[in-house]
Amino acid sequence: MPELRKHYFLDEYCIVATERQQRPSDFKRECEEGRIAKCQFCPGNEEMTPPATAVYKRVGRKIRILKDGQERVKGWTIRCFSNLYPALVPSPSSPERTPWTKLPGYGFHEIIVETPEHEKRLSDFSDEQIELLMSVYKDRISHYREQKDVRYVSLFKNHGAKAGASLAHPHTQLIATPIVPPLLKRELQKIEEIGSCPYCDIIAKECNSKRFVCENDGWVLLAPFYSQTPFELWALPKRHVHYISALDELGLLGTILRDALHRLDKTLENPPYNYMFFQSDNEQYHLNIRIQPKLTIRAGFEKSTDVYINTVAPERAAKYLKNV
Ligand SMILES: [Zn+2]
Ligand SMILES: [Zn+2]
Repeated sequence: MPELRKHYFLDEYCIVATERQQRPSDFKRECEEGRIAKCQFCPGNEEMTPPATAVYKRVGRKIRILKDGQERVKGWTIRCFSNLYPALVPSPSSPERTPWTKLPGYGFHEIIVETPEHEKRLSDFSDEQIELLMSVYKDRISHYREQKDVRYVSLFKNHGAKAGASLAHPHTQLIATPIVPPLLKRELQKIEEIGSCPYCDIIAKECNSKRFVCENDGWVLLAPFYSQTPFELWALPKRHVHYISALDELGLLGTILRDALHRLDKTLENPPYNYMFFQSDNEQYHLNIRIQPKLTIRAGFEKSTDVYINTVAPERAAKYLKNV
């Protein structure tokens, strides 16, 4: 029977409706995007993108951090640059006056190309590669967090056209905004009310539950009780940490994230997905990463209520994912 489940600590709901008994194979899709003639993110095509804001280049056993000058840096390992079509810009023009609040579209929108290899999947990264990518996340988030008037830095990955990736080459995006997003605001308010960290509580309770998937020395991976999508996963650091800048063991973060993607790839045959980092300057917050395979569509009911219908119970999803 369907269950109306409440979020762990917010007034938000999802419906777990498993009447259809969907299995991973029910989510198989037709092959997505074909190859485009010339990929802007591939090595050799650096001129097709704005100049890099940071280039990470492996030289021997060391990583050098460079910037594009007159010439674009070649032979890079990870490359960051401003989005050619940014959602927010550093020098916006003043908006026209209206009776409604309007702010200039100030902010930063950066692309992080994760590897020079067009076909490489994150789940196949080596320990070294995934740790480097996590340290680039930390560097770039820290960099934008320090910019004037930036109140929030959103880091996310869209993988696959259905999950919003307009280019197939592996990349992550970062958008720094002059506002704290409402979603985080609601969480912070509630955490303030509760007076203790709900995520620490979730970890303690879910570690022995049917929703637990796996762990390493620093992180746990679980299919949350309140799952907005089939096969949603949350990665949570065991230690209470509010921001990626407060993490020193980035290898552990990298391996849990890679592990999550590997399990999804095996179970759902390379699904499109989004992963999103949630963090806050407020030390009461608990850093977490949400990974949502894009298997269903947010349609009329979801749009009109903000209540999600999930056709695979998280307990079943965890069972599949655990057995990879
Ligand atoms: Zn490419
Ligand atoms: Zn906590």
